[in-house]
Amino acid sequence: MGRPLSTSLWHDTLGEAPTSRAPLPGPASYDVVVVGAGFTGLWTAYYLSIADPTLRIAVLEAETVGFGASGRNGGWCSALFPTPWGKLAAASSQTEALRLHRAMADTVVEVGRVVDAEGIGADYQRGGTLTLARSRPQVVRLREELSDSHAHGFTEDDVRWLDESEARQGLAATGVLGGLFTPHCAAIHPAKLVGGLAAAVEKRGVRIFEQTRVRSIQTRGVVTDVGRVDAEVVVRATEAWASQLPGSRRAVAPVYSLMVATEPLSDSTWAEIGLDRRSTFTDGRHVIIYGQRTADGRLAFGGRGAPYHLGSRIRPGFDSEPRVFGKLRQTLVELLPQLGDVTFTHAWGGPLGIARDWAASVGLDRASGHAWAGGYVGDGVGTTNLAGRTLTDLILRRETELTTLPWVNHHSPAWEPEPFRWLGINAGLQAMRTADAEERLLGRPSLIARAMSPLIHG
Ligand SMILES: Cc1cc2nc3c(=O)[nH]c(=O)nc-3n(C[C@H](O)[C@H](O)[C@H](O)COP(=O)(O)OP(=O)(O)OC[C@H]3O[C@@H](n4cnc5c(N)ncnc54)[C@H](O)[C@@H]3O)c2cc1C
Repeated sequence: MGRPLSTSLWHDTLGEAPTSRAPLPGPASYDVVVVGAGFTGLWTAYYLSIADPTLRIAVLEAETVGFGASGRNGGWCSALFPTPWGKLAAASSQTEALRLHRAMADTVVEVGRVVDAEGIGADYQRGGTLTLARSRPQVVRLREELSDSHAHGFTEDDVRWLDESEARQGLAATGVLGGLFTPHCAAIHPAKLVGGLAAAVEKRGVRIFEQTRVRSIQTRGVVTDVGRVDAEVVVRATEAWASQLPGSRRAVAPVYSLMVATEPLSDSTWAEIGLDRRSTFTDGRHVIIYGQRTADGRLAFGGRGAPYHLGSRIRPGFDSEPRVFGKLRQTLVELLPQLGDVTFTHAWGGPLGIARDWAASVGLDRASGHAWAGGYVGDGVGTTNLAGRTLTDLILRRETELTTLPWVNHHSPAWEPEPFRWLGINAGLQAMRTADAEERLLGRPSLIARAMSPLIHG
């Protein structure tokens, strides 16, 4: 796997050297083994160790705590849930789909509660999300999104329309015609949160072993280079890297998201730009972009658009795509010309995990002792917390409000074999770029995007 080539802003602004931990010394036995020390693995260990302090829990991490997407993301701790609403409601009901979305909104608050309770300095600020409409087609689509949300049972307190001046007051970007605002999102510093969680679980007796790669997950145990580790339950918390493990190679496709960050901006620049409450922001385009005002006054800004690599390969070199970094810088300056000739100090990226039906899932198979959570697409920061609490209830055989949510024990279909997977995913990425061009050119919502959506979402 190796170190990432480009250091993320987050790893560079930790404020202290990250704790380093010893590898697993040899064969062992635990009650629960968690594979992967990102948010999924650590939230699970956190809630399990509180619910049953007698449990012997080990987290095995191939690299270091927060090496994966959890240490490198855009820091939106949002209530967004990746499974398309129609799919979720068809597999359960409108009421159950809404219950899951409500649980996600509660999750944003729960993360803030734990951050406070554990004294984790994760720069958490619940300032909501602004989605700007910056063209006529975006106005039409975002208004449609709003009326769909209200038809699904969300209220004005969950998501509301902003007129042009309100939206511009939130973020003084170019071409703003209006937008949506939801309060259900907090900006966080992801590397501080993942590091703080690791310390919180260790305080409760959880063992974390770094530089310890799991070669395979088997019935009631895992195989590592230094021997087998037996466990009643094994939690696969490897997200994009599930695609590298025997038995789950087609469970998720590793798709890259890339980011750039500026130097800290002056107070006068911020007075022009806005984001006073550190609302996270995006606009209505098809190729997703996302940004946050960091606690130290920078803009951290990311987007999709990097290619998917044949055979679901994951390589450190793929974190760095100069073409995409250049496009991100250009997009941010187009959005906010107030940035002028600001210096960009960081550029990095990483893989996230997408299931074939774009459905995140969490579950436990009692017979094999195999538990998993993942397929969060770009919405894992909050969702991993819900996954950790749900896995805790499943592992402890508790029947709760969480264990009956409609993503529990959902099994996504496998991705197509190669080269069809490569062709399909990259065609989907290209279609979204074309859809944005179509809207710029024709000034109406893209027909390509509408036609592609069922194909993309399986
Ligand atoms: C650039 C980027 C921006 C993003 N922005 C956002 C955002 O703003 N908001 C949001 O909600 N989501 C965002 N996401 C997605 C989000 O970060 C992820 O969904 C989430 O962090 C997944 O957490 P995880 O713990 O499941 O996986 P990861 O954090 O990827 O952790 C998996 C861990 O497993 C380890 N591992 C893998 N294989 C093995 C093995 N065989 N043995 C042992 N260990 C192994 C890895 O080294 C890694 O540390 C973004 C993702 C990226 C890449």
